[in-house]
Amino acid sequence: MMNTLVIRVDPERRTWWKQTLQDLIPEVKVVLKDEDEGEYAPSDVKYAVVWNPPNGWLATFPNLKCVASVGAGVSHILKDPNYPRSVPIIRTVSESLRMRMTEYVVLHVLRFHRRLPEIEQAQAERKWVQYIEPLASDVHVGLLGLGNLGAPVAAALNSLGYRVSGWSRRGNAVDGVRVFTGPSGLQELLSEAEVLVCMLPQTPSTENILDGETFSAMPAGSVLINVGRGEHLVEAELLAALDSGHLRGATLDVFREEPLPAENPLWSNPKVLITGHTASAIEPATGGRVIADNLRAFMNGDSVRDIVDIEQGY
Ligand code: NDP
Repeated sequence: MMNTLVIRVDPERRTWWKQTLQDLIPEVKVVLKDEDEGEYAPSDVKYAVVWNPPNGWLATFPNLKCVASVGAGVSHILKDPNYPRSVPIIRTVSESLRMRMTEYVVLHVLRFHRRLPEIEQAQAERKWVQYIEPLASDVHVGLLGLGNLGAPVAAALNSLGYRVSGWSRRGNAVDGVRVFTGPSGLQELLSEAEVLVCMLPQTPSTENILDGETFSAMPAGSVLINVGRGEHLVEAELLAALDSGHLRGATLDVFREEPLPAENPLWSNPKVLITGHTASAIEPATGGRVIADNLRAFMNGDSVRDIVDIEQGY
């Protein structure tokens, strides 16, 4: 039986993924989870390309050799208590993902720094306001996560003159960034962070990290940008920090429940800007090529750079 690659991704682009991956990896048979049911047996499946598979599904393939995540994050796979943890996971990162995230974070840092929300409000009220903002060199930006996405974001913010600090697990040096680690390092970073940007992966050690205690440790009038995962944020404690005025605003791209339910109070909070998990999406054309190249390298026994450390959870 031919080696089979099964795809389980968002419905809209399924057919596109099937065609693209079949063209790029002709040596395997590419099938879609629902449409092609009956055309393959679970034991044929050697590879899976997934976004947010239901718990237990990947464990139904006894000969699974490797899983590719359609995304840089893998918490949508590792949330599954039945995930067969000896099966390697490859995450998908690309230059376009880094560029899009850099654009997004720079946009929202500048939006807060140059007070766009207040200026738009003033225009709505036909008020002439003149804010003289501090120079970027007097604004502290704290980055939680200095990896594939955090490092280029730090470089872009540096080039605009911002004072950039970052927090990571191992504390590897990043050019132009004061790097902190551990709980005490986090407190030091927070004490100066006028803009806090979360670009962490979701793991048991990072869940709920954006809570009331974190917000209290930040200077009064600071702002939050969360592009990590919804599970990083304790929504009620953010709303309390915004209501008290301690935080001036928040830009949120990721949520515990997506799409964010219509009744969620975040929607109507004037200090919150919501984007629909689009800070940095995998572009179909380049994303497909990256996934195909990674899977082919894995099949050939070559080293694959973006293999996940399953024990660390990212
Ligand atoms: P990387 O794995 O390259 O980087 C993760 C960073 O977080 C590293 O610097 C790592 O430290 C740090 N980190 C992990 N755990 C801890 C911890 N316990 N304490 C301190 N630092 C920690 O991931 P990416 O940069 O590629 O992506 C990060 C996340 O961004 C993804 O997991 C995903 O959730 C999110 N994302 C969101 C998107 C969106 O559109 N909103 C798009 C793509 C990704 P170290 O350097 O020591 O390993």
